[in-house]
Formats: sequence, structure tokens, C-alpha cells
Amino acid sequence: MSDETWPEIREAVRKLCANFPGAYWRAHDRARTYPAEFVRALSEAGYLSILIPEEFGGAGLPLSAATAVLEEIHRSGGNGGACHAQMYTMGTLLKHGSAEQKARYLPRIASGELRLQAFGVTEPGAGTDTTRITTFARREGDRYIVSGQKIWISRAEHSDLMILLCRTTRREEAAKPGDGMSVLLVDMREAVKQGLTIRPIRTMLNHATTELFFDEVEVPAENLIGEEGKGFRYILDGMNAERILIASECIGDGRFFIDRAGAYASSREVFGRAIGSNQGVQFPIARAYVQLSAAALMVQKAAALFEAGQPCGSEANMAKMLASEASWFAADMCLQIHGGFGFAEEYDIERKFRETRLYQVAPISTNLILSHVATHVLGLPKSF
Ligand SMILES: Cc1cc2nc3c(=O)[nH]c(=O)nc-3n(C[C@H](O)[C@H](O)[C@H](O)COP(=O)(O)OP(=O)(O)OC[C@H]3O[C@@H](n4cnc5c(N)ncnc54)[C@H](O)[C@@H]3O)c2cc1C
Repeated sequence: MSDETWPEIREAVRKLCANFPGAYWRAHDRARTYPAEFVRALSEAGYLSILIPEEFGGAGLPLSAATAVLEEIHRSGGNGGACHAQMYTMGTLLKHGSAEQKARYLPRIASGELRLQAFGVTEPGAGTDTTRITTFARREGDRYIVSGQKIWISRAEHSDLMILLCRTTRREEAAKPGDGMSVLLVDMREAVKQGLTIRPIRTMLNHATTELFFDEVEVPAENLIGEEGKGFRYILDGMNAERILIASECIGDGRFFIDRAGAYASSREVFGRAIGSNQGVQFPIARAYVQLSAAALMVQKAAALFEAGQPCGSEANMAKMLASEASWFAADMCLQIHGGFGFAEEYDIERKFRETRLYQVAPISTNLILSHVATHVLGLPKSF
């Protein structure tokens, strides 16, 4: 399988990942602990600051370079979910922050001194319909006082800063449902001292995700990003990059499953011959490869549009949907081909199977992508 883009980066990432074999990921998965050593190695090698412009200390590379990094991590059997947001969450600050905010934070994010990898949007009563969030920031002089609750906020315990979407005008008082939301850059180190409670949620995969409770947490007004009330648009702006990068993780997962399935099918003998010599075993592997190759092309197209500054919302969504479905098909295929051994922890298949399932739900579910395509691309009547 050719690796087309960024061969040198891919080769270097592969070498780095070789130091973090299946046993490493299994141990963290079993204990639901954070793969801090891996994240440190990736950060020190400069991969997490790959998208930060050179003037702020990053590599200033285009999005496709970041897709190559994440794809290789996932192809190796690892998981970029522990830190992928350090790559792209800063995009909101870069695009909408003031010159002062950028100068203050970006160089330290680029060096790895500050971790900005928490992104607080979802709430118990507002998942897909973001405009229903109720976490509220009340302005009092030179600060905001934040109260409310967030859920599924990943890496909150491993972040110094968080991009928080909250309401500064209640939904019923805003001109439009998407108005009246604002983005605050929350210093987690300060917030936990004065009213922020972080509660880990144990999930079917090791994802360091949490619930957050804000009880009158003070955030300096200077930490408002962009204009008050326009936060929803700023968050939407960042979603294309996120979707394209997550899609590349799915492509990496799919390649992992196809690599493993092919190797196992060629070596496992049943009835005196390799199971891979049966077409009933070959065809699902070939089908997974075909589906994944098509999805990878859509990821490349979306990334190219993004890099050219062209609208890419539909392509980013389609890339995420195709890639997450292709990786899931490959996961199911790979498990089946491994027979009983697919369920054994030491093969890493069951772990990756659990991990890749997430991407059909988060960061956006398949139904919502189909709804976007139906109404925004094909012009069908809106259903909500
Ligand atoms: C492990 C994990 C990590 C996450 N990390 C983060 C994070 O770091 N930050 C963050 O802000 N969020 C995070 N999320 C939240 C994630 O973005 C949401 O789970 C996702 O957006 C779906 O929202 P929901 O779970 O509330 O589902 P709901 O909105 O309740 O939807 C439930 C189901 O109904 C379907 N549905 C809803 N409305 C319609 C409709 N009109 N038509 C058809 N189908 C519909 C959806 O497609 C979905 O399948 C994470 C979630 C998980 C599980």
C-alpha cells in the first residue's frame, strides 16, 4: 500500500511509534491511564506543533502533514486521541485570537510547555444540537463568572488550557439560536482551584474523557477569544480541520486492520492450508482495502481544499464518514479473520476494534453528516 504523502514524516513517525508497541498501549488500556510517555515523545519530536506557524515556534506545515502523522500513529497500533487536539485546538486561538493572545500562548503551546488539548462544547442536555448549551458566563467587570456542566470533555486532566464554548446570552434572548455563545480560553490550573471539578468517565476505550462542573469559576475577561456572542461561528470554523484529522486516524486504523488481517490470513492454517487461500477470507480483506482507499482519497481532497483556503465543510464531513465506516468495516473483518484470537487482548485487535468504533459517534455522528449532505449539498428540505 503506497503512502503517497509526506514520506519522510511518515518514516520518522513509524520509528517513533516502534518504541511504543502493543504491550505499551495494552497496559494503559487495561489501567485506563494516560499514555504520557508517548505524548511526551511526540511533543518533543515537534509533531504536536506541526500546524503552528513558524513565527510562533511551530513547523508551519499544512494540514496534510498532520494527517500523515496521525495516520501513521494509528497504523502502528497506537492512538492519537491522547493528544491530537494539541495539534488543532489552537486553531481557534490562531484564527480568532488577538495578536496579544497569540503572542502570549502560541509559542508556549508550540514548545509543549502549555497543553491546549481540551475542547469544551458538549453538555448532558446538548450534544448534537450545540445551540442548546446552557453553561453561562456572566460578565462582572474585568472577569466572567462561569457556571454549568460539560460532558465528554477529553484530556481535561491533561490540559493546562481549555477552549470553552459557553453562553453569554441565553438562547431565548438571542436573535438566532446560534448567536449569544462565546469562546473563553480557560486556564485549567487556576480554574480547578476555584470551582471547577473534573470527574473522569470510564468508557469502553481509554480516552481520558471527563465531566466538568463549573461552580462560579472566574475567568479573566481578557481570555475572551474574538467577539462576545460570536463563539459558535469560531467553533464551527475549527471543525473542518478536526474532522479531516480524525478521518486520517480512521484511515490509519483501517490500514492497521488490513495489515494484521492479511498477515494472519497468510499464516494461520486450517484444514492444512492458509485460511487466506480461501476466497471467503480474501474477499473481505480486499473489500476493506477498496473501501479504505476510496475514503483516503476523500480525506486527501478535503485536506487539499482546506490547505487552499477553499470551502471544505462537506468534504471534511464526507471524509470523516467514509473513513470511520471503512475503518469499522476493516475492524469487524479483522476480528472475524482472527477467529477466537481476535478476542484475546494480546493481539490488539479487540482494543483497536473498540477504539475505532468511537468515530461514527464523535466528534460528529454519521446521521448528522448525512443530514448535512442531504440539506446543504443536495438541497432537500430541512428536518430540524
Ligand atoms: C469518548 C468521547 C469523547 C468525546 N470528546 C469530546 C470533547 O473532547 N469535547 C466535546 O465537546 N465533546 C466530546 N464528545 C462528545 C461528542 O461530540 C458527542 O457525543 C456527539 O457530538 C454526539 O452527541 P450526543 O452524545 O449528545 O448524542 P445525541 O445528540 O444525543 O444523539 C444521539 C443519537 O441520535 C442521533 N440524532 C440526533 N438528532 C438526530 C436527527 N435530527 N436526525 C437523525 N439522527 C439524530 C445522533 O446521530 C446520535 O446517533 C466526546 C464523546 C465521546 C463518546
